[in-house]
Amino acid sequence: MSGAGPTLDGCRIESVDVHAFELPTDGPDGTEEDGTLEWDSTTMVLVRVHAGGRTGLGYTYGDVSVASFVDSELAAVLQGKDMTSPPALWHLMGRQIRNAGRPGVGAMAVSAVDVALWDLKARLLQLPLVHLLPAYHDRVPVYGSGGFTNYSLDRLTEQLTGWVEQGIPRVKLKTSRDPGSDPQRLTAVRTAVGDGPEIFTDANGALGRKQALYWARRFHEEWDVRWFEEPVSSADPAGLRMLRERGPERLEIAAGEYAYTARDFVNLVEGPAVDCLQADVTRCGGITGVLEAAGLAAAHHLDLSAHCAPAVSAHAFCAVRRLRHLEYFHDHVRFERLLFDGTLPPDGGALSPDTGRPGLGLEVKWPDAERYRVYGTRTT
Ligand SMILES: [Mg+2]
Repeated sequence: MSGAGPTLDGCRIESVDVHAFELPTDGPDGTEEDGTLEWDSTTMVLVRVHAGGRTGLGYTYGDVSVASFVDSELAAVLQGKDMTSPPALWHLMGRQIRNAGRPGVGAMAVSAVDVALWDLKARLLQLPLVHLLPAYHDRVPVYGSGGFTNYSLDRLTEQLTGWVEQGIPRVKLKTSRDPGSDPQRLTAVRTAVGDGPEIFTDANGALGRKQALYWARRFHEEWDVRWFEEPVSSADPAGLRMLRERGPERLEIAAGEYAYTARDFVNLVEGPAVDCLQADVTRCGGITGVLEAAGLAAAHHLDLSAHCAPAVSAHAFCAVRRLRHLEYFHDHVRFERLLFDGTLPPDGGALSPDTGRPGLGLEVKWPDAERYRVYGTRTT
């Protein structure tokens, strides 16, 4: 074939650069809380891969140590490699970090690089990323997510009704370690959003098994809650399964945001421990990892819901056959809007990748980003 179009022939990785930015929260007194954690900032680790005169970008949300992990373990291995196949480089990176540690920080580092490689390949081919992927969908439904436990009732209801007013028909709030205050919060939310929108809750693994079963029944019976995420720790698949089997039929049990490896997903789909599996593209091995999780979920007759990182997830999860929806998370929406041009506004309760822009369609707003830099230096 005589090629008129763009080609990847002989295209090798020229360099990798790594950056981290830390953004303070906009919560009360500068903090946000859920059932098991309080935080005052969010850190994004941004990776850029350069080849053939183009730059691909990927990112993860984690500790700044993810940035140094990419620099010390992955950058040199990628240098000079043929970039035609992101999964081949994903496999190579997995081998490289065998002794450094694949789950956790290692998986987040690989995820950020993998996303950058897919973005780079799409940009070199002058395609939107969604068109490079084996896509089943052209849009990803979202649910609004935030509702932190330290919000006042006014802030809580204002945030959740804000999403409903944007046409998002499902909203999620965090629940507490001691759920004694949750009835008042749930009543305020149900009153504010009305009967139409679905209400989701997320305990972030705060509860014991019996306590979770008690609240599962109350959440559903009193406020028509439809989704109970990590009622117990996702490290307790037997507890999750018990809640699935003994809790209300119309209340789904969900987990999976902390799955870093294929085995972590297997622990949740066997049984199964969940009604709907979740996966985080910035933790589970990037887009290559999401494609594996999607196959595993489909093989177990489970839907897959995207955890956070909306700017990447909107493309990646179009390639998930049994796609449920995407967590449109307050902290990440705010961070991505601040850092990137090209983020997607929800339209009709969904994000639709912009097919008029190559790759993820994102450009870093460097002057804004520099204010929050905690790692790396601007290179271009
Ligand atoms: Mg969660």
